[in-house]
Amino acid sequence: MIRIEKERIDEFIRALMETWSVYAPARDGKNTLFAPVEDPAGIDHGIFNTDKSPKEIFFPHSEVLFEFEGGEIKKVERDARPIAVWGLRGCDARSLRLLDKVFGSAWQKPDNDMFEDPYWKEKYDDSIIFGTACNEPRSTCFCNWFGAGPHDGAGMDVKVVDTGEAFILDPVSEKGKKYIGSLKGWAEATKKDVTKMKAAAKEADKAMGEVFGMDGIQEKMADLFLKPVWNDIGAKCVNCGACAFICSTCHCFDVQDEGKKGKKGKRIRIWDTCMFPIFTMEASGHNPRDMSKDRLRQRFMHKFSYFINNYDEHLCTGCGRCVIVCPVNLDIREVVREVMACEA
Ligand code: SF4
Ligand code: SF4
Repeated sequence: MIRIEKERIDEFIRALMETWSVYAPARDGKNTLFAPVEDPAGIDHGIFNTDKSPKEIFFPHSEVLFEFEGGEIKKVERDARPIAVWGLRGCDARSLRLLDKVFGSAWQKPDNDMFEDPYWKEKYDDSIIFGTACNEPRSTCFCNWFGAGPHDGAGMDVKVVDTGEAFILDPVSEKGKKYIGSLKGWAEATKKDVTKMKAAAKEADKAMGEVFGMDGIQEKMADLFLKPVWNDIGAKCVNCGACAFICSTCHCFDVQDEGKKGKKGKRIRIWDTCMFPIFTMEASGHNPRDMSKDRLRQRFMHKFSYFINNYDEHLCTGCGRCVIVCPVNLDIREVVREVMACEA
């Protein structure tokens, strides 16, 4: 573990920028998000988990996949430097690992030929994630429902702990250990630092709400598929899609071609969501999910049933963004509690 006094953090980030394209928390008007770093002095290290999730770094809201002209496909040139993310919270680091199960290498096994998304892999595989432990979790945080905690390092390459006067960099993955091992000119963390880190982790754990047991939710969701509970929950939802777009794990997308059909143009991938009525609209006009409750149920089924079937994990990390953003105060934690309390 190394220690970086706060007055030297810009120096550390500047060195990182020599090799990596660095993203860090920033303010954009009233919103907070991850932005490319041009000047380390502009990083706001005090931002908690950003309003907009960092999935955009690897899975942009709108991404040109390729261009075409006269039957020729042209690859889009991108920044060739690998990506370093600074200041990612534990829930978001785990979200990226979940998305890597869908798009990348995390769920690939030697004996299967599951699809790998080259646009995700070219960014995520070479990246390095510096995650920041949460010393003061919010009331909307519930990462502890999923076996994690505010100082959890899963999904990070290096865990960063703020001890007040310094940042302590604690390598987690092999990549993180290699990187930290290669650094010169930084002091080792002291015993006092380690004591402070442990105390901060303990305080942060205490600040979290009670853990809600999720055992059996997958079966429960399946049993309740046709039950009226979804009518009541779905009646509140206005299908604005904000929860899905802000979510660090939702990953539905649409693919569209722009330009002269078959002649010159570009193929674009853009975010989409199962909360929108036209998401499942068929050419015939039939919509298998034409009711609001059907769409809301789909989002919950995906997170707490289908994803577990496919990838052995919940598709939620308890970041709390959807709780904050929903205009009708539809709280995912309340929905889970209601579903779990319901008789099948
Ligand atoms: S469903 Fe809500 S709490 Fe869970 S990861 Fe998405 S935004 Fe965060
Ligand atoms: S943010 Fe709330 S109202 Fe909007 S789609 Fe999500 S659950 Fe429905």
